[in-house]
Amino acid sequence: MAFSNLWRSAPAVREAPRPSLADAEQVLAQVWSHSTFRHHQRRAILAALQRRDCLAVLPTGGGKSICFQVPALLLPGLTVVISPLISLMQDQVAALRQRGVAAGYLSSTQTGTERSGTLSAVREARLKLLYVAPERLESLMRDLDRTPVDLLAVDEAHCISEWGHEFRPHYRTIGRYRSLLGSPPTMALTGTATPDTRTDIRRTLRLRQPVTIMRSFDRPNLYFAARPVGFDGERLQLALRLLRVTHGTAIVYVPTRNQTDGVATVLRHWGIRALPYHAGLPATARRDLLARFLDGSCRVMVATNAFGMGIDKPDVRLVLHLGVPGRPEAYFQEAGRAGRDGAPAACVMFWTEGDIGLARQFLSRSCEPHGHRRRVRTSNRRGLDAMIRYVRTRGCRRRILLQYLGERGTHCAGCDRCRSERLLRPDASPRRPKSAVCRGLQMSSSGDESSRDGALWREVDAVV
Ligand SMILES: [Zn+2]
Repeated sequence: MAFSNLWRSAPAVREAPRPSLADAEQVLAQVWSHSTFRHHQRRAILAALQRRDCLAVLPTGGGKSICFQVPALLLPGLTVVISPLISLMQDQVAALRQRGVAAGYLSSTQTGTERSGTLSAVREARLKLLYVAPERLESLMRDLDRTPVDLLAVDEAHCISEWGHEFRPHYRTIGRYRSLLGSPPTMALTGTATPDTRTDIRRTLRLRQPVTIMRSFDRPNLYFAARPVGFDGERLQLALRLLRVTHGTAIVYVPTRNQTDGVATVLRHWGIRALPYHAGLPATARRDLLARFLDGSCRVMVATNAFGMGIDKPDVRLVLHLGVPGRPEAYFQEAGRAGRDGAPAACVMFWTEGDIGLARQFLSRSCEPHGHRRRVRTSNRRGLDAMIRYVRTRGCRRRILLQYLGERGTHCAGCDRCRSERLLRPDASPRRPKSAVCRGLQMSSSGDESSRDGALWREVDAVV
C-alpha cells in the first residue's frame, strides 16, 4: 500500500499551535470510531501533547497503544516506537494501516527493498509512526538526521530492566540515542513494573520529571493457587486432572523447550488438544501455532515463556505453571494472560522443592557481580525470594504479588489461601478493607462470591 494513500495527519487541527485533548478526541472518533478516552489514556495523551515525558504502567487491557498512537497523528513530526518483538510491530502496523494511518516498521525479516521503501517514507515525511527494535536505533540515526522526531514511545518498557542487562543490551542504550535525537518527549509504557523497575526505566531513558500513571495491578476475576508436589509425574497427573475439570482455553508454562514437547504429547495421549510452543521453532511454525491457539483449534498451548507477549486472546480460562518463574513480575505477566475478558479465570502453579533449588543455582551461577551487575543480581535475588514466599505462604498469595509490585493490599477472596481460611472460619467477619483494591475483594468475600467466581474457582480448588 502506498504511504501517500494513508491518513497522515489531522488537517483540521494541524494549524493549531498545540493540539488539545479535544483534537485528540476528534482523532479518536475519526480513526478509531471511539468517542471517549479512559482516564489514564487521557493523562498520557495530554502529557505527550504538552511535550512532557511520561511513564505509564497500565496492566493488561489498559489500551496502551492508543496513548502514543493518537498523539502521533496530532504532532507534526515522526513518532518512533521502540518495540521488542517483530510480531508486535507487525500486528500494530497492520492494524494502523487498516485504519488508514501511515505507519511502518523496520526488521530483519523484511527484504532490502521493503526496508529502503520505509526509510524513504521516513526521510520524505510520509510516515507518522515508525516501529523499530532497540538494536536498530544506531543505524537509524543517519536516516533520522533531518527528520524531526516529536515523540519517542518505548512499548513494553520493562524489557529495559528485564532483558537489557543480559539478553538485549541495546535496551540500555535507548537513553543515549534519545539524546542524539534532541531528547524528544518520551513515553514509556509497560504492563508490569516494580518500584525498582520504574526507577530503572526513568534513569535509563533519562526521563525528566515524567508524568507517572499507575493503574492497579489487581484483577479480581483471577484466582491464584499453588500446590507443592513431590515429583514430576505427580505434577503431570495434577495438570491432567486440572485440565479435565476446567473447560476452555489454557496455557501451560514449562521451564524448558524439551518439556513443551513431552507435556503436550502426554496431554494429547489423554485426549486433550495440546500443542508445544517455544522460541526454537521456525517462525512459520510459531505463526501457525499461534493461529490455531487464537481460533480455538488448539485448546492447550504448552509453552516456554517465549509464548505470550502481545498475544491477546481474551478467553484464556487457565494459566498453569509447572515450575517456578524467577520473578513475580514475570509470573504476573504470564498468569495475567488469563481472563482478559473479565470472566473468572485461574492462575495455578504446581511446584517442587527442586524448582527452587534450580532457580537458586541459576542465580548463583550468573557471572561475578560488580557495579551495575551487582544491582541486577540483588534485584533478581529479591525477586526469587518473593516467588518463594508466594509458593510457601500460609497467607494471601495475591497480597504477596501486589506488594512486590508496589501496591498495598490485604486479604482477598481470590486465592486458595484466603478461601481455605474462610471455609475453616465461615462465621468470621470480613476484615476491614484498607484500600480500594481490597474493598472490592472484601465485598465479594462477604456476599456475592458465587457471581464473581462461578464454578471455575471451585473446580480448581477441588484439584489444588
Ligand atoms: Zn488471598
